Amino acid sequence: MNLQMKASLFQVQGLVQGVGFRPFIYRIAIKNNLNGWVENNNEGVTIHVEGLESDIESFKKMLVQTAPQASSIASVKETESKLEGFSKFEIRHSSNLSEAITEVSPDIAVCPECLADIQIQQHRIGYPFINCTNCGPRFTIIKDLPYDRHQTTMHPFAMCDQCRKEYSDILDRRFHAQPVACLHCGPVYMIHFEDSNKEESVSPARQIAEWIDKGSIIALKGLGGYHFVCDALNEKAVQTLRKRKSREGKPMAVMFSNVENIKKRFSVNETEEKSLTSWKRPIVLLRNLEPCAPSVSNGMHTTGVLMPYMPLHHQLFQFLKTEAIVLTSGNVSDEPVTISDEEALKNLNTIADYIVSYNREIYNRTDDSVVFVADGKERLLRRSRGYVPSPMKLSLNTEGIFAAGAELVNTFAIGKGTQAILSQHIGDLKNAETLAFYEESFQRFSRLFRFAPSLIACDLHPDYLSTQFARSLGIETIEIQHHHAHIASCMAENGIDEKVIGVALDGTGLGDDGSIWGGEFFVCDLMDYERAFYFDPVPLPGGDKVTHEPWRTAVSYLYKYFGKDIFAEKLSFLDGVDAKHLEVVLQAIDLKINCPLSSGAGRLFDAVAALTGICTRSDFHAEAPMRLEATAAQNCRGKYVFDIEERRIVFWKLFYLILKDLKMGVSVSEISTKFHNTMALLVLTVAKNIRKATAINKIVLSGGTFQNRYLLEKSIFILRDSGFEVFTHQKVPSNDGGIALGQLAIAAKIKAMKKEL
Ligand code: ZN
Ligand code: ZN
Ligand code: FE
Repeated sequence: MNLQMKASLFQVQGLVQGVGFRPFIYRIAIKNNLNGWVENNNEGVTIHVEGLESDIESFKKMLVQTAPQASSIASVKETESKLEGFSKFEIRHSSNLSEAITEVSPDIAVCPECLADIQIQQHRIGYPFINCTNCGPRFTIIKDLPYDRHQTTMHPFAMCDQCRKEYSDILDRRFHAQPVACLHCGPVYMIHFEDSNKEESVSPARQIAEWIDKGSIIALKGLGGYHFVCDALNEKAVQTLRKRKSREGKPMAVMFSNVENIKKRFSVNETEEKSLTSWKRPIVLLRNLEPCAPSVSNGMHTTGVLMPYMPLHHQLFQFLKTEAIVLTSGNVSDEPVTISDEEALKNLNTIADYIVSYNREIYNRTDDSVVFVADGKERLLRRSRGYVPSPMKLSLNTEGIFAAGAELVNTFAIGKGTQAILSQHIGDLKNAETLAFYEESFQRFSRLFRFAPSLIACDLHPDYLSTQFARSLGIETIEIQHHHAHIASCMAENGIDEKVIGVALDGTGLGDDGSIWGGEFFVCDLMDYERAFYFDPVPLPGGDKVTHEPWRTAVSYLYKYFGKDIFAEKLSFLDGVDAKHLEVVLQAIDLKINCPLSSGAGRLFDAVAALTGICTRSDFHAEAPMRLEATAAQNCRGKYVFDIEERRIVFWKLFYLILKDLKMGVSVSEISTKFHNTMALLVLTVAKNIRKATAINKIVLSGGTFQNRYLLEKSIFILRDSGFEVFTHQKVPSNDGGIALGQLAIAAKIKAMKKEL
């Protein structure tokens, strides 16, 4: 054995702050008889250790192999250091505020060690609020900084002696675990019966499982809000839930206890498995093989699947006979997910047969996050629990900038130093309760992150409630075109600050000419954009009505390209529309009454979904494009054509050929696939045109339409094949949930340029 004393300096980079990393380092240093210190720095964590060479070797091994689950080590650099003769190991604290901010971690799924403890620790046998430094609630319970128990909703629960001992012992895994609790001192569940009796319960798992297997619906308080839960393999139960929730079409998420069971019913690749089992525990969209009860995914080709993240979820599956349960947000229609027990008892009992709450307050509401995998990478569709409020590093100084976001799937962002802190998914601000949630969350982020806005970025649309809120703050405001923000958001997360080809395929957003945009090819950087090409605009008869009645958009395209005569032919997609109604719609287009012009790509997808009869009326946002994608097959290479007239991309040939295919009896699946292939080809063709004229080779894809996995992957593949450097979203959604990041980046760039002048 080598008894030589040695000193080493370790630089650990990656996600190593705010995840119990320093106490972890302390523990493994003590275990290996090492002295020295550990401290946070801008890049990560620095460690100085002194001791026997073999002990340092073993320390290094443990550092890499046993790090807390929520941490992610990007690199460990070891350099030899000078022996300084330390007599102990210590955690060096800096009183730096930016360090305190990194302590606001997202919520972390219960860790394997705690799941083991719950079987053996006498004071926690079966205790469903078990947690430690490596897992448990964080963002959902924190009220203020510094992150300390009395500043969380654990405040009313006084630690018992045993918990206090663990909390104070640096060698314990629960050292400074703020939500530490046990059977004697922590929160408890409460079961509310149909007859409004209630009962305290250490773990209600057995009772809930029994109800689920019987076909009942339970409103269950989760980490960031209530869920409705029922048997996902019981069609009658799922239908009942749909009916009571009046959630006609929206697919529901399903929870399984393990990956093996998921693989029996869905196709799961390596990246998808990684997402499913990550400590963030998002909902992962998976391709159906042998789906659950038909009403769960309701005709979609994918299902949102997730794995247990609260101890109670794990306990449920010990008692459940069914393999899968529906876990869908516990709210009334479009309101934000319910977090207060009072409201749950008042509002959710018309939907649920039983309500199960617990007596710890949820302070920050979070929904389950949603991801999908395309081109081998996890991509966010909804960024909330597990991801928020992890900051995003930008290359620009964002300090003091508030980005108000869009309106429909709103999130906002605040700037701290060179970081962007994005809010959790807020939702559709047109709903009064959601708007209240937005305003409240802004106040809470401001307090939590010690943020005072000095510059505001918002959407160009004056009617967006986020824009109006931004203006009401009475601070200098920059208005940013919606699709420029989409592209900037993708640029920001990819660290790009130069001229690019920006492709924004999107639903709606106000253009700078007053019309609705959404099929845009920009030559742009963070400062400026030039609208190089765009989709041929069509009138949207009825304005906002078209999103629920895509047949109107199909009518508009047909009328524009083929005139009124086309409607003399039998068009089966109009079977449900009476002749008078159609006439009124055509007249409205003639007279330009409530017929805003739109170049939105989402509308083109709507029109094709309607024309093929796949979706003529839609119950929820983006249903038509989702159903159209669901019918696209991977193994069809056919395509249609389009024209480019000056800067406009014109679709009359596309519609002509689709009508012809319909008449010939070509299957809708083939038509849909050919349409998708055409869209990808269109992106490539236009991009090549722009590259020829500008020599720009970097291309950035954003906008809600790129949530379409078929289109996204196809576009990426053929663009790469043609030598383009392709940038896409991963960390923020390509839908309007990513807009705030783009607004923030643009405002930061403008601010920096002004300073230079
Ligand atoms: Zn744990
Ligand atoms: Zn205790
Ligand atoms: Fe958008």
